[in-house]
Amino acid sequence: MKNSLSSIAILLSSFLLGCGERSKSPAAAITNYTYTNKLEKYHLFDPACQSHSRFTELGRFSIYQWNDYFVAKTYGDFKGFTSSTRLSSQNISNIIHSESGKYDVEGNYYIGSGALGLPLKICNTAADLGQKSIETVALATAYAVEKSHAFYSATTHLKLDPIVLNILPTYHIIDGTNARYFANNASFSPLFKELTMYPQSQRAAAAGEVAMWEMPMVGAHEFGHYVFSQHFPSAYSKRKNYRTTFWQEPKARTGGYANIMNKSLVGNRVVNNELIIDALSEGFADLYGFYTQNEKARGLAGSRCFHRTRSVKSSTFYNGDLKTLDSRTLNLFLSNNIASLKVEHCADPDYQEIHSIGAIIAYGVNELWSQTTSSAHEKAKLLVQWLDKLEEEFSSFQNNPPRIFFNVVVDLAIKLVRVGSFSDNQCSVIKEVFPDFNNENSYCLI
Ligand SMILES: [Zn+2]
Repeated sequence: MKNSLSSIAILLSSFLLGCGERSKSPAAAITNYTYTNKLEKYHLFDPACQSHSRFTELGRFSIYQWNDYFVAKTYGDFKGFTSSTRLSSQNISNIIHSESGKYDVEGNYYIGSGALGLPLKICNTAADLGQKSIETVALATAYAVEKSHAFYSATTHLKLDPIVLNILPTYHIIDGTNARYFANNASFSPLFKELTMYPQSQRAAAAGEVAMWEMPMVGAHEFGHYVFSQHFPSAYSKRKNYRTTFWQEPKARTGGYANIMNKSLVGNRVVNNELIIDALSEGFADLYGFYTQNEKARGLAGSRCFHRTRSVKSSTFYNGDLKTLDSRTLNLFLSNNIASLKVEHCADPDYQEIHSIGAIIAYGVNELWSQTTSSAHEKAKLLVQWLDKLEEEFSSFQNNPPRIFFNVVVDLAIKLVRVGSFSDNQCSVIKEVFPDFNNENSYCLI
């Protein structure tokens, strides 16, 4: 009967959002996630786009960004975009909008890759696009991606392929006569190299919440998943269903579409190394996004709970819980039994859920590495080194049981900053955040 307590569909495995709303019944959930009809959104297009004749080269466009106090109109440089009929650049191969995918009642996913989307065009560079227009969403997302890419290029030598941006698609699950929609979220598909920005729900808009695309951290976080998948491809080599890796757990795990909502809320929870990797990917993406953005841009205060729960610098979750992977938290995460749920609000961390565990990893790793360097570039280099080490040594530890696998993964991050023995400050971070993780000699004997 635990499923009757569960609901809602906003936690896909690569998503930034780790604090979804939950309601007592699926019916209520559907109501919560009904949002503006997409036909209304289409009305926001510049009418000039209906004929291609007025398409002009992009220059500087106004976008809207959250800077911890308010959503501010600012300007991004989009001169890198070509003036063809498709918005593209060196780092973004295409910006599309479309209805792009859906699940049927069997849990099968029909993906709409970039090829199915319609290319977004911006025809009148003089137009004020408006805060909620699809063009603004596209440009704000593109701006975050361009900045993330520039940051990546400054810290590594690998060249990344351009990605597709999928803007405000309608994703829905069809369950008999009901449909559920995804909103207030973002995702990245490593297979299609496609970053998706979902619509804002009517509830979130009415509550005055900042939209996902207005927080540059969100696009940067999703870009972090891209970096993760490129430097640590072995993480996905064994997935049975690679096509839908970031969208759907294997159906066998939970017996239906409920699995894509929240792994902790459905039957037959099976903890395996893929779950550890997914939590690691969330922690990595939080860190990468954080290092990519400057102090002003990385704020998450406009969202309901993010600014503590997902802030890399916060030692606590929104509800005051310390971010620590102590034995209680670790046992909950590594348990195949579904914990009795007391999670009613996004303020409460769910320790069986990858974003909560990822947030603890991110906090601990940043605290530890901060004892060595305060430079975001240096820490980003360490992050990539961590992935490269994981990739290099994966075959030697991939078959360990989850608890040991998790230990090895964290151990590699901790050891990256060890010079001789750990300092007292390093030891205090390790004891605070990773008290149950050890290498063969133990990190800090006392
Ligand atoms: Zn994510």
